[in-house]
Amino acid sequence: MTDRSFDLAGLVRDVPDFPRPGILFRDITPLLANPAGLSAAIDGLTDLCRPLAPDLILGIESRGFIFGMPVADRLGVGFVPARKPGKLPAATYAAEYDLEYGTDRLELHQDAIVPGQRVAILDDLIATGGTAAAAVELVERAGGTLAGFGFAIELTGLGGRAKLPDVPIVSLLSYD
Ligand code: AMP
Repeated sequence: MTDRSFDLAGLVRDVPDFPRPGILFRDITPLLANPAGLSAAIDGLTDLCRPLAPDLILGIESRGFIFGMPVADRLGVGFVPARKPGKLPAATYAAEYDLEYGTDRLELHQDAIVPGQRVAILDDLIATGGTAAAAVELVERAGGTLAGFGFAIELTGLGGRAKLPDVPIVSLLSYD
């Protein structure tokens, strides 16, 4: 089991007013750079995601790749990337989501999921939930069964959970 007494939160750097005034950016790069922190974060997220019993981890570009791939490896399952527009070479499904100004899009290879596979969606952080909700649309279009969500960080005050289906949502760290 993971040593939960490790001070992971102490390795997340708060950067005010990035990328825009009023946003408090939770910067995980000090955590990733710290060997014990990195290991504790991946171990912790793996322990939290194991009960979701996924057949596949879907990671959201790009920080969802950082956490999703090692968790998939430790759980002994595969990893598929949901990418920004125009990056995936074969036929894709696309899902749009709202940003503060305008929209963005995530894409997934049409054959990334074997219909019926249980898919857990991983990202570094959930804020409003819009990005994760777009990933849900991709899993559904590809015929996957949603197993749950794993996040390194949850910003609870933004109510992102309310945008997501009623499946388990696990996070290592949460902030109001
Ligand atoms: P949302 O779609 O609002 O849930 O935003 C989630 C995505 O935006 C994640 O991929 C995060 O990497 C990024 N993000 C949103 N807010 C923050 C924040 N305060 N600090 C760091 N990353 C953030």
